[in-house]
Amino acid sequence: SITARAIVYNQYGEPKDEIKCHSYKINLENLKPDDIVVESIACPINPSDINQIQGVYPSKPPLSLTSLPNLNNPAAVTGNEGLFKVIAKGSNVNNFENGDWCIPKNVNFGTWCTHKSALNNEFIKIPKTISINEAATIAVNPSSAYQMLTYFEKLQPGDWFIQNGANSQVGRAAIQIAKKLGLNSLNIVRNRDNINELKNDLISLGATKVITEDDNNSKDFGKTIKSWLNGKEIKLGLNCVGGSSVTGLARKLGHDATLLTYGGMSMKPVILPTSLFIFKNLTAKGFWITGNITRFPNSRLETIEAVIKMMEDGDIVEPSYEETNVKISELTDDKLLEIFVNGLINSKQGKQLIKF
Ligand code: NDP
Repeated sequence: SITARAIVYNQYGEPKDEIKCHSYKINLENLKPDDIVVESIACPINPSDINQIQGVYPSKPPLSLTSLPNLNNPAAVTGNEGLFKVIAKGSNVNNFENGDWCIPKNVNFGTWCTHKSALNNEFIKIPKTISINEAATIAVNPSSAYQMLTYFEKLQPGDWFIQNGANSQVGRAAIQIAKKLGLNSLNIVRNRDNINELKNDLISLGATKVITEDDNNSKDFGKTIKSWLNGKEIKLGLNCVGGSSVTGLARKLGHDATLLTYGGMSMKPVILPTSLFIFKNLTAKGFWITGNITRFPNSRLETIEAVIKMMEDGDIVEPSYEETNVKISELTDDKLLEIFVNGLINSKQGKQLIKF
């Protein structure tokens, strides 16, 4: 048997204070026929993971005594995204071999762990043609960007979309996917000292134009944007920020456009001018990739396949993360807990990826 460790919580609250490490044994010998045992390769710390532990995220795993073997108190396992490899399989399993890579088919899987035993149909196989970092983070950010660009407006090559939070992982994926689809992107980022560095960085990813929030809020700058569009109207807007940023963004949309709100980084409400609804027939709706698993059947698989192809072809480059590397064989309960507590603290500075 092997020692499995998982990060769990027994109640909602401040994530770094609520998480604990739970260890238990998995016997690799007498598996149920349809089960596989997987070992973790890498998992990210996403905003939604943090919101789940805080108890403020609408989709969360139940606190239950049966989440893992040998629990003394009802608990949920943290983490929604991650890459695993198969290390053992039951007698009925023929779609996986030992060593294969896989990711959970659904959210709320509890990916912040070293090992897990589960039904084989709870996983999607991932080819080793993409990198570990890409595979470990494929299901949320690039998949959201892909769905927002393809599921709502029928954009044709040469069409424009606009987004704020363009330097977020979702935004950077959207820039690259749009380039592959032949779309033009108008990208809004926050101003900073080295703004030209960021602009060049996003343009090298495939951004058509990059503007600052100051440009976004300036009436005068509208003329420059008009000249870029050259008679075309922007059909799709992606809102990661809210507040005054989305007001400026929405004003740049054309007639009959769709605005998708997927994030609220400014913590401010979405403020939209009434006239855009009346005179331009604006449609404003929310986007939630987790909700789409049931809203658009098969969307998760279809999206992941499309994104894998773009990664294989080099259309999407590997995102940068702050990595923490650790060997499972050298772990103790305290060490695993320390890694995730530090990861939660550091996630304010940049996206954290824990690699085993
Ligand atoms: P990242 O950590 O990669 O990026 C966060 C971005 O937000 C940064 O670019 C940062 O800008 C920007 N930002 C932070 N604070 C503010 C602010 N006050 N005003 C304007 N911009 C701000 O995040 P992700 O790409 O992982 O996620 C981005 C958002 O999308 C999150 O809110 C996340 O929850 C959400 N999301 C939603 C999904 C859905 O299905 N609805 C799916 C995936 C993500 P800067 O570059 O200037 O630092």
